[in-house]
Order: sequence, then structure tokens, then C-alpha cells
Amino acid sequence: MGERVGIAVMGASGRMGRMLIDTIAESDRAELIGVTERPGHDWVGKDLGDALGRGHMGVPVYGDPLDVIVKAQAVIDFTSPEATIAHAQLTAQARTVHVIGTTGLSETDIAALDAAARHATIVRAGNMSLGVNLMTRLAQQIAAALDTEFDIEIVEKHHRHKVDAPSGTALMLGEAAAAGRGVDLSEVSERGRDGITGPRGEGAIGFSAIRGGDIVGEHDVIFAGPGERIVLSHIATDRGIFARGALKAALWGQGKAPGHYSMASVLGLG
Ligand code: NAD
Repeated sequence: MGERVGIAVMGASGRMGRMLIDTIAESDRAELIGVTERPGHDWVGKDLGDALGRGHMGVPVYGDPLDVIVKAQAVIDFTSPEATIAHAQLTAQARTVHVIGTTGLSETDIAALDAAARHATIVRAGNMSLGVNLMTRLAQQIAAALDTEFDIEIVEKHHRHKVDAPSGTALMLGEAAAAGRGVDLSEVSERGRDGITGPRGEGAIGFSAIRGGDIVGEHDVIFAGPGERIVLSHIATDRGIFARGALKAALWGQGKAPGHYSMASVLGLG
């Protein structure tokens, strides 16, 4: 067995942070060398195992991300847009692999990541699962094959704690459908219909978001035409799929040139 890749997990106490800690522990190719939480969080300064109530693990919880980024070969980041942008300045300085699952990033945020990717190897995806990345390809192909007689609607469902809408995955699917049609999503997207909206715009790509309970993540892409309807559907039942995808990306990124990559590259989908 070769050397294990040293991984840092940002936002360790979060839903995805905890899942990543367990996924890395099960891997024989990776080793968790440290984690972070936001300054002021009560885990900062503790040992991760003690913070989790599992007994000492020898993995520190840092409040300053630089302390762990300088030691890590890959950083896995499912936090908030502000935190992720700050982390990217540091992973660029350290020229390390930065896997980003954080969603809700603005166009300005993405431009900042493009700049950081001149020095860091960034892999970013609104969804790290194999199934959704395959579905994204299919959505693009179907949109390319159909004309605007077919209305494209994207419906997503998530747990009650999710703070952004539409989900990063819904936007990924929308971007793919728009690319298939050769249009810019920002010019055709229809969101948040309410009241007397008027009829649906020809060629629009619509988004609807449902929030409730503990739904891990469900996405439908509907192509509704005259007399028939195609529905692509993906249902996530376990957050482990995102954590395993993120770890795969962290390992894939080792030795890759700096750049802003997607999961399609990691999964060999072109
Ligand atoms: P969460 O709120 O449970 O966890 C986020 C964690 O980040 C929290 O523990 C928070 O304290 C921590 N954090 C915030 N600012 C920080 C900082 N400056 N430094 C260190 N830690 C900080 O949320 P979650 O459900 O784990 O989701 C996190 C993000 O990942 C969201 O944007 C979500 O949409 C996204 N997500 C992406 C995928 C994917 O496959 N790409 C899958 C699931 C969730």
C-alpha cells in the first residue's frame, strides 16, 4: 500500500462534514489529518474524536483554515459560499487540491474560484454523485434532440434545513439542458412563479423547490411536450454518495495541473 493522501475537511460538524469524516476513515487510500470549524464554534481547539464523543482520534479541529491547508494534500469543502471563497485564496497559495461541494455560489464567487484555479486544482460540483452526473449528460442530450415544443421543468426536493434554492444540482441540470439547446440559462430560467404570472415563456427552463423533513435530495427534469412527457428522475437516499464522490475527486486531483474541473472529468464522462 502506498502513502495515504492527507485530507483536510472544512466544516467538520456539518451534515456533510460528519459524513466525510466517516468516509475517509473507511478508505485505505486517504487519511484525515485535520478538520476546521468556523471561528467561535465549540469544537475549535478540541480533538475531533473528543468533539464527536467517540474518544481521542489525534485529529485537531482548527479555527484557522491556514493551519491545516498548509499540511494537506487535498481539502474537502462543504461549507458556505463565504467560507469557500476564503478557503480558495489559501488553497491557491498552497497549490493544493480543493474539492468544493458548497452550493449557492454567485457568479462573482465562481469568478473568484476561476482566479484561484490558476494555482489550485479545484474540483467543483453542485452534486458529487455518479447518478446525477450521468443524468446531467442525459438532460443535455435530450434537450439537444427536442425543440422548444417541449417545456423543460426542473423540480427539486430537499430537507427543511437547506438554505439555498434552487439547489446546486437543479442549476447543474438546468445549465446542461440550456447547453443542449444552445442557450444561456440566465436568459431563459423561470423561477418562483406566484400569482398572475402570465403563460409560460417559450423555451423557458422552469425551477421549483420543495423543502421538508429529512429529504436527502431528489431531482426531476421534465420535458413536457404535446401528448407526451419524458421525466428523468434521481433520488438520493444516503449522503454517503456525495462524500464518496468528493473523496474520489480529492484522490483524482493528486498530480493534476491547476484548473477548475467538474465531476464529469473525475468520473471520466468527458
Ligand atoms: P451544514 O450547515 O450541515 O454544514 C456546514 C458546516 O460548515 C457547518 O458545520 C458550519 O459551521 C461550517 N462552516 C461555516 N462556515 C465555516 C468556516 N468559515 N470555516 C469552517 N467551517 C464553516 O450544511 P450541509 O448540509 O453539510 O451542506 C453544506 C454545503 O454543501 C451546502 O452548500 C450544501 O448545499 C452543499 N451540499 C453539496 C452536495 C454536493 O454533492 N455538491 C451535497 C450535499 C450538500
